[in-house]
Amino acid sequence: MIWNTALRNMSAGSGCRRSAAGRRRGQGRRWIRPLTALALALTAAGTGVLAGGCAGPGEMSGSNGKASDNLSVDGKISVVTTIFPPYDFVREIAGDEVDLKMLLKPGEETHSYEPTPQDIIAIQNSDVFIYTGGENDVWVEDILSSMPETDMLTLRLADCVDTVEEERVEGMKGSAGHSHDEESGEEAHDGHAHAHGHEEESVHEIDEHVWTSPVNASLITEQIADTLSQADPSRSDLYRKNTLAYQEKLSDLDRRFREVADSAKRNLLIFGDRFPFRYFADEYGLDYYAAFPGCAGDTEPSAATMVFLIEKVREKKVPAVLKMELSNDDIANAVAEATGTEVKVFYSCHNLSADDFENKETYLSMMQKNVETLKEVLN
Ligand SMILES: [Zn+2]
Repeated sequence: MIWNTALRNMSAGSGCRRSAAGRRRGQGRRWIRPLTALALALTAAGTGVLAGGCAGPGEMSGSNGKASDNLSVDGKISVVTTIFPPYDFVREIAGDEVDLKMLLKPGEETHSYEPTPQDIIAIQNSDVFIYTGGENDVWVEDILSSMPETDMLTLRLADCVDTVEEERVEGMKGSAGHSHDEESGEEAHDGHAHAHGHEEESVHEIDEHVWTSPVNASLITEQIADTLSQADPSRSDLYRKNTLAYQEKLSDLDRRFREVADSAKRNLLIFGDRFPFRYFADEYGLDYYAAFPGCAGDTEPSAATMVFLIEKVREKKVPAVLKMELSNDDIANAVAEATGTEVKVFYSCHNLSADDFENKETYLSMMQKNVETLKEVLN
């Protein structure tokens, strides 16, 4: 198979499907170029052989060595996801009826993930590829845009819901501007949610953590079911049935969060960490203070941020400081120690530890723990 750069601008589809493959980002991360070139060379050398050997440590389930036919030898389509939430949603919707792989290894920190050449080949050989869309996924768009047109369907989670921009709230380092990109620091930013259409080019500031709201999760599963059905119509009834059952559980979860938030003493969360929970907080009318926004790469808080968080915990008598799973707990520990409170984990579900993966933890099981934690910190 020859990779043809003339195919970089494939025709854009509508809605979630194929949309990413058709949209080309002008600026890819520089380091991805060598990887793309390597993938090209590997692919040219013989896709079949290499695809058979792509079971890296990140492999979650059976691989397949097929080229581009929808159903592999075992009669299943191949589905690849970048991170845990869509992996788990596909698992709920399709069970063992697809060959499913997550690129992120259990325990790996999402924001420092870099695709291996094997990951790139796995994407290329998939029938359905699901990613988030956002600043951590710039590499995805770069790879997709350099792939030849195939039957592969892509689904970008950020296209499945109304997105908002990452937000800087009082107390965050440099809260008057943006941290990721010095040049965009001049943009006026009023600190409130902006509906941000995904057609815009300046999407590098969208908050990609769309799955943190169970309501969004339900919308996402709908789109996943549609995409899987399109790739494998023979199982579409099963996908539909499982999706409806799963949406019932999500709606139950939503009800529980809503009850806790509505009957709580306070509506404030304090994170000694990044804050990937904007969609969650918006959904349940919660306010928050955190050390950093969304997926900020910066993890060194300023002295002013530390003082601010400590004062807020005292002033609002917040009983516990929150942090994410798989994240450094230095800030949360320091704030808790200074205020005589404790640190609690609030699951963002980006990824899970190897143990939790073994123990079959799910988006739902981690979110149920969040319900209990929320009850404690809001009362
Ligand atoms: Zn993130």
